[in-house]
Amino acid sequence: MEDYKYSLDIMRQELKSKWICPEIKYALKASIEALGKQIPQRPTHLTAKNDIKIGSFIFHKGCKIYSCKCKEWVGYKDPFCKHCGQKLKWD
Ligand SMILES: [Zn+2]
Repeated sequence: MEDYKYSLDIMRQELKSKWICPEIKYALKASIEALGKQIPQRPTHLTAKNDIKIGSFIFHKGCKIYSCKCKEWVGYKDPFCKHCGQKLKWD
């Protein structure tokens, strides 16, 4: 597998170049967004302050709940965020 973080750094650096056309910049931005979702991110870990309904489940006050960087709730140990596709890291 190629090094995703290294590839992202190269593309971000290339975006700063004034010599590339808008179409290539657009393609680079889309590629950065897509590739970034393949690099696992830790969900934010919160404690429910009140009873909260997420999907069809009710989490009671004091339960641990998790959110993705897109601000949507994710299930514990979900491999991906079902809202934005971000790969999640749980260790
Ligand atoms: Zn997400």
